[in-house]
Amino acid sequence: MIDLRSDTVTQPSEAMREVMALAEVGDDVYGDDPNVNQLEHEAAVLAGKEAALFLPTGTQANLVALLTHCQRGDEYIVGQNAHNYLYEAGGAAVLGSIQPQPIDMAADGTLPLDVVASVIKPDDAHFPRTRLLSIENTHGGKVLPLAYLQQARVFTQEKGLALHVDGARILNAAVALDVPLSTLSQYCDTLTLCLSKGLGAPVGSLLCGDAEYIKQARRWRKMTGGGMRQAGILAAAARYALQHNVQRLREDHDNAQWLAEQLSALGVEVLAPGAQTNMVFLRIPAHEAAQLGPWMKERGVILSVDSVTRLVTHLNVSRADLERLITLWREFLTVAESDKRENVTETRAIYG
Ligand SMILES: *Cc1c(COP(=O)(O)O)cnc(C)c1O
Repeated sequence: MIDLRSDTVTQPSEAMREVMALAEVGDDVYGDDPNVNQLEHEAAVLAGKEAALFLPTGTQANLVALLTHCQRGDEYIVGQNAHNYLYEAGGAAVLGSIQPQPIDMAADGTLPLDVVASVIKPDDAHFPRTRLLSIENTHGGKVLPLAYLQQARVFTQEKGLALHVDGARILNAAVALDVPLSTLSQYCDTLTLCLSKGLGAPVGSLLCGDAEYIKQARRWRKMTGGGMRQAGILAAAARYALQHNVQRLREDHDNAQWLAEQLSALGVEVLAPGAQTNMVFLRIPAHEAAQLGPWMKERGVILSVDSVTRLVTHLNVSRADLERLITLWREFLTVAESDKRENVTETRAIYG
């Protein structure tokens, strides 16, 4: 199967499974797991921070990050479409009594700093205490401009806010800009990143920050049920991913670019501004949308077709796979076009 729904579907490779099978482990809640300790050390160095914490998921990493930054009755400013506002089941509010202050994101995925400034609350008993600005890099595959990160750093320092980056795919951003991760992370106080997306590890995320912050975050991780025991099996996969699967993200970006060009050439509507790191967004016309997903699935391709359809490239999708996809798509369009011409209402037989 060629699965383009997300880079979360990536499978651990043979070589990764081998290091997992052979991993030396200990009880990480006692601080005894050598692979977890080594991973946290390597991640801190990579991010240019004092310390890092290994967590099961990106959602928990963001939750722990917010719980550590904010107390009950504090507030974080965040994008309307940000993962840690919209897609994490309201965890910060439900579990932390932390109030989100969502604002619209600009088209490039940034939060306009003049708008952020306008929602910072005065020190007055009527209001929650504004503590934190949370931004997302990449957002919808878009890389936040370096100049914006720099401005956000200066801005948050002036306003006395902390700056958190939900960097689930921040290594895609670093590779796209051809800079080390620390070039991006130097501007924030804390960041999270996912090992289980394009990096190809089966499980795991990291939270990076200064040593005192990570010490407190470790307590919140335990409280939220994320203190794992012989987690070195997972940390070994994560270490393998950081060693072998970062620079190759470039291939995924090149493949997304190629895919966007080929689909455009077929007349498929690729949404501006085209491929963004490892993602391509499409608008599929209504008369095709219902059929495209099932038609492709019967032929070994999994797409999630929606009002906006997102295709995500990753390490289990090769250029040859994408060539096959383009051949299939051309065939699909021919069938869909002839149906439209003949005004066929009962299309099932033909598509079948
Ligand atoms: C995937 C993702 C997360 C975390 O997802 P998990 O599935 O919980 O690991 C957080 N933020 C963003 C932007 C993401 O894309």
